[in-house]
Amino acid sequence: MKVYLAKYAGFCFGVKRAIDIATKTAGKNVYTLGPLIHNTQVVKDLEKKGIRCAENLSEIPEGTVIIRAHGVPPQTIREAKNLGLRVIDATCPYVKKVHNITKKLQEEGYQVIIFGEKEHPEVIGVKGNSENAIVIESPEEARSLMRYERIGLVSQTTQSKEKFKEAIAELKNHTNKLKVCDTICDATEKRQQAAIELAKKVDLMIVLGGYNSGNTRRLAELCSKETKTIHVEQPSEIDKKSLKGKKKIGITAGASTPEYLIKELTEELNRI
Ligand code: SF4
Repeated sequence: MKVYLAKYAGFCFGVKRAIDIATKTAGKNVYTLGPLIHNTQVVKDLEKKGIRCAENLSEIPEGTVIIRAHGVPPQTIREAKNLGLRVIDATCPYVKKVHNITKKLQEEGYQVIIFGEKEHPEVIGVKGNSENAIVIESPEEARSLMRYERIGLVSQTTQSKEKFKEAIAELKNHTNKLKVCDTICDATEKRQQAAIELAKKVDLMIVLGGYNSGNTRRLAELCSKETKTIHVEQPSEIDKKSLKGKKKIGITAGASTPEYLIKELTEELNRI
């Protein structure tokens, strides 16, 4: 059995940056607003350093609040400051860019459409920059939209390029003026491409990363179109029966999966 690791896998720039910022900020009364990144193991490690996770601002009596890589609506930052909290903003700069584009589109009179998951924190944060933004989760959902004079389209940074293109094609039927802002980040694209390339060559793909991580779930979805794929959050979850008869196994990992878990999984598979 041979084990291959995708060329790009695991922590992206934005996640590394957020963890660095949080680690440097660790101290008394330091909270993140929601989990810093979508990985349970990393969140537990941060807790050991004294960085607690609050689900909302009312749970933070005093001190510092760290804004996670996914970002928050601008209103939330204003609210935190009004409550007297020190705000440390670890929003990924690529996500911040989507906020700025969305704000500008709104100011220029476009109907903003966000291609992404409605309940995802990043999308909620982006939506906060436009009064009337509409979120569509799939190209099919775009079909039910009415016609608009002008549409400005942005994407959640971790969406699939392929699906985004399908949404663009559909939205062309809903306006004569479609401004497309491709805000899928480079790290996402590289990880998706590398995962697809590897999946084409192996008998089984293992996708490692949080079950609540949107980009990890999308990697699993893309790989499963090419070969048999399993998604696990931790190496210990691998069912050895699923490896039976597999000669080539590929590994990829979401942008919020730490290096040590990838190493643990690779070593475990090599031992088998
Ligand atoms: S996936 Fe991209 S946008 Fe999201 S945190 Fe990583 S680098 Fe930033």
